[in-house]
Amino acid sequence: MPKATETLLEIDLNALDNNYRYLTSKLKSETKVLAVVKAFGYGSDSVAIAKELVELDVDYLAVAYPNEGETLRNAKIETPILVLHPLPINFEVIVNHCLEPSIYSRKMLEYFIAFAEEKKQTNYPIHLKFNTGLNRLGFIKSDIDFIVEKLSKTKSVKVKSLFSHLAASEDLKLKEFTLGQIEGFRKISEELTVKLGYKPLLHCANTSGIINYPEAHFDMVRTGIGLYGFGNDPSENKHLKPVGTLKTVISQIHTVKKSESVGYNRGFIAEKTTRSATLPIGHADGIPRSYGKGKGWVTINGEKAHILGNVCMDMIMVDVTGIDCDEGDEAIIFGPSATADELSAAINSISYELITAVSQRVKRIICRN
Ligand SMILES: *Cc1c(COP(=O)(O)O)cnc(C)c1O
Repeated sequence: MPKATETLLEIDLNALDNNYRYLTSKLKSETKVLAVVKAFGYGSDSVAIAKELVELDVDYLAVAYPNEGETLRNAKIETPILVLHPLPINFEVIVNHCLEPSIYSRKMLEYFIAFAEEKKQTNYPIHLKFNTGLNRLGFIKSDIDFIVEKLSKTKSVKVKSLFSHLAASEDLKLKEFTLGQIEGFRKISEELTVKLGYKPLLHCANTSGIINYPEAHFDMVRTGIGLYGFGNDPSENKHLKPVGTLKTVISQIHTVKKSESVGYNRGFIAEKTTRSATLPIGHADGIPRSYGKGKGWVTINGEKAHILGNVCMDMIMVDVTGIDCDEGDEAIIFGPSATADELSAAINSISYELITAVSQRVKRIICRN
């Protein structure tokens, strides 16, 4: 790629291909793959990512909210799309765009059946979500008879899959807890499959579940962060390539004398002559204020330049004292060499938060590196 001349998020589809192949190499050949493209494809570009995944023969896509699925349908993506967190107000959008809702509570089941009947649907695909320990969304085991009773009285919907979500698949210190979740899901699935009289797809593993728990692969896995290049583990990260590179450019360089300050509220006060570079990226672009005062950094000509003072809405100033650089030079916020994992750790955050925060103001460039 040519050097950045403004703030850009480069999205490397070859990195996505690499990550998809690596993750699927961990699966049995018959295990299906659901790719999670919620939150603009983890902050990148959901349509470009989903189209590439379709080329790679992905079985399913998932989004969190229905409008995210609508965006994919408007881009002519025809792969089945699971909506992880619908609300009753969204049922119209769901059915109009052939999106498949996760049904996670008794109320949602009743409401969706009533809606599907009113819309004269038959066998509309739904996915039943079970809570096995995360305590976020989902039915519990004692809801099974209620579910079976409701489903026996309607032809409007059909259960396409049963699923659950692991709370700590990346943390091997919590292995016993995770194995308990997997076992709980297995028992629920067995009971429900018998009572339904047909076999929906079963799935409960996210990226770290794929990597750490082969016994949790069932019929399908759901991968998000791994596709974007992070395995929640240094030994896994070696095999994965970050898809996104967030870059910007030096707008101006200042020489700040001892006891002068930089930025709002005099957030940095120079103890010695300091060379400061101003970059056109701020908290409105996805650089949280908590990276200010030296916690965060960018890479300029291979060297780390730490943030001086407070992060502004549209800009940061970074310390380029001793770094050979000029106005117009490129600065990398995160990418394959200075990773989002590493930068996010500086504020006790995680790659997920940093990459999904890149705001829609930042121009996206699709490339194949
Ligand atoms: C976001 C999400 C995933 C993807 O998890 P990763 O850790 O990014 O692989 C899978 N399942 C559910 C229910 C999710 O909400």
